Amino acid sequence: MTLNNKVTQLLKAVSVVAIALVSFSVNADDKVYRLTLAETWNANTPILGDASKNMAKLANEMSNGRLQIRIDSANKHKSPFGVFDMVRSGQYDLGHSSSYYWKGKVPNTLYFSSMPFGMMSTEQYAWFYRGGGMELMQEVYSPFNLLSFPGGNSDIQMGGWFKKEINSLEDLKGLKMRIPGFAGEVFARVGASPTNIAPGEMYTALERGTIDALEWVGPAFDLRMGFQNIAPFYYTAWHEPGSETQFLVNKKKWESLPADLRAILETAFRVAAFDMYVQAIDANAKAWQQMLQENPDIKVKTFPDEVMNAMRVANRELLAEMAADDEQAKRIIESQASYLKTVRAWTDISTKAYLDISDSE
Ligand code: CA
Repeated sequence: MTLNNKVTQLLKAVSVVAIALVSFSVNADDKVYRLTLAETWNANTPILGDASKNMAKLANEMSNGRLQIRIDSANKHKSPFGVFDMVRSGQYDLGHSSSYYWKGKVPNTLYFSSMPFGMMSTEQYAWFYRGGGMELMQEVYSPFNLLSFPGGNSDIQMGGWFKKEINSLEDLKGLKMRIPGFAGEVFARVGASPTNIAPGEMYTALERGTIDALEWVGPAFDLRMGFQNIAPFYYTAWHEPGSETQFLVNKKKWESLPADLRAILETAFRVAAFDMYVQAIDANAKAWQQMLQENPDIKVKTFPDEVMNAMRVANRELLAEMAADDEQAKRIIESQASYLKTVRAWTDISTKAYLDISDSE
């Protein structure tokens, strides 16, 4: 056999292998990946529940049907606050929930929803995507075989419904309020008695006087609960200035997906998060208009300076304690504080200044 013949044979062999590889990869590309998602919300929960449906539809369309995502709501899986564990273990591939629900399990998950007196949604998105927030979030979740992505924002949350007006710090002493999580701890430090009550029991608790006040979300979510009919004072925001939900992903599952499908999922997460934020702003605005029409006597209030100052101090003290206790918490708290300082100087001369002069008549 001449050298030329050998080269020709070798080239033929190589091309056969190459054709085999190409046809194999075409077949691999056709493969349908069926993923499951557990959400914290009950079936047909508006806004919060729309995020996953929207994401699954986008992922399906962008992948030409290769990504099929089945969504199980809390009514089905019966474990609204078990989403973290179910996705971690692989019982579900994906989840939709909120990071601060896992505070009792992994304390540093607390920082990725919303912090009292912290960043607004727009500022926080900038922190997540451009200011190191995503990296810190993955650092917290990755030891648990999980990835976390922003999953949509509820917009600024209101300070809640109060039966009596709060005129001084004294009025907060012993005040029983449904306010869960870290904000509840801030509230306790200024003398109030925070408690957590399941959404389904909140109205009755407020009506019967088991509690004196409660916070839920904002007009879009509060309207259907009817709190405006039993508590006339609606306080403005301080404790959840931009609550972000999250898409949770089982990391092993994620790594088993082809790169293009991972990119499609990441894009679907991001678009669904943006859509939910837009939907929340629109729904809050319309629900507020409806609330005012039906209950023109709602009194919108902001806590007096004495109360706000005491809560700001309590918030700082609690953050300093958490930073002293844990090195990772310290880095997250410092990252948020330093980003807030930079971004807020801009918000002040842009958004804040503009709002005072714009014409919305
Ligand atoms: Ca809330």
